[in-house]
Amino acid sequence: MPVDPRRLIRIIEPRLGEMVAATRELVEMESPSFSKAEVDRLGRVLQAKFEALGGAIRWHPGGRFGNHLEVDFKASLETRRRAKPIMLLGHFDTVYDLGTLRKTPFRATKDRLFGPGTLDMKCGIVMMMAAIRALAETGGLPRAVTVLLNTDEEVGSESSRPVTEKLARQAEAVFVLEPAQGAQGALKTARKGVGNYHVKVTGRAAHSGVDFDKGRSAIVELARQIERIAGFTDIKRGLTVNAGVIRGGTRTNVVAAEAEADIDVRIAKMKDARLIEKKFRGLRAVDRGCKLEVRGGLNRPPMERTRDIAALFAKARQIAGELGWELKEAATGGGSDGNFTAALSVPTLDGMGAVGEGAHSEHESVLLAELPRRTALLAAMIAAV
Ligand SMILES: [Zn+2]
Repeated sequence: MPVDPRRLIRIIEPRLGEMVAATRELVEMESPSFSKAEVDRLGRVLQAKFEALGGAIRWHPGGRFGNHLEVDFKASLETRRRAKPIMLLGHFDTVYDLGTLRKTPFRATKDRLFGPGTLDMKCGIVMMMAAIRALAETGGLPRAVTVLLNTDEEVGSESSRPVTEKLARQAEAVFVLEPAQGAQGALKTARKGVGNYHVKVTGRAAHSGVDFDKGRSAIVELARQIERIAGFTDIKRGLTVNAGVIRGGTRTNVVAAEAEADIDVRIAKMKDARLIEKKFRGLRAVDRGCKLEVRGGLNRPPMERTRDIAALFAKARQIAGELGWELKEAATGGGSDGNFTAALSVPTLDGMGAVGEGAHSEHESVLLAELPRRTALLAAMIAAV
């Protein structure tokens, strides 16, 4: 049951001030992934806000991280209640340690909102609420909506992943309120998959002056392995392998007994997961006196641009067109929880959140002018799918 996006934007636009105030409230409650107490406190504030909109709350235990918040909204019309819900997906943890707010407080200028977590993705949560409220006022929610806000997205979504996947399987489509891409605010219709590997070499320590030949250098061995690992990169396939951290050795006059590397892997195609896994497991020590251990694997599968995703984007593009702007799409190397839902073949549109720049940095900010129309687009998409 489509709703005219122009009608939605007329409702939303006058509420920009309220949306700014709500974003401020959320940003001023710091919520680093590893600070469970603070994250849970913010969770309770979000619960109250979603309850006020008429949502039914359900908490999912987050273990050492904050608890994950599920909010279910029923369709207003009896006839629409059997349709699958639209899932709105987001997170309320941030990458910023407690105290960051003192150095970079929330700040609103004429055209931007600054502050830790504004763009990624507290403003996106405010957009969800504003979209649901606007729809409720245009004759009621046209269909059921399930909101899932997790607390561990910035640290790999380990405990929220099963919840995300379970709710996504029940949904018609998933909209992820992660920031849009770039200053033009493109939606993300493809994301690379992300893997992490850990390679550890154990050699044999020896005095570099007295017993050099008795030693087996783990550092030399690791250096050789890194050369091989770097060779796994295949830019044309969209496959990159980055040895981002290496450690090893104790003193210059000791042949190193241990060395290790942490490696980030990105893949564009699901079939490359097996390829890269085989390559890592196939690594063998060059120096037989050294032992090689490989751990790790794929964390987030790639979000591939399927026909369903393309169709969903076409719909979004059409609605944006009705609002007078040309919506773009983009592929990104970064992963999000949208990778999990897309991998289940549930049509997923990512980057439906705020437009801005500087996520995960001290100049993180949101563009105010984009907020009303992006929120109207979100609301119209909930109605249109
Ligand atoms: Zn995020």
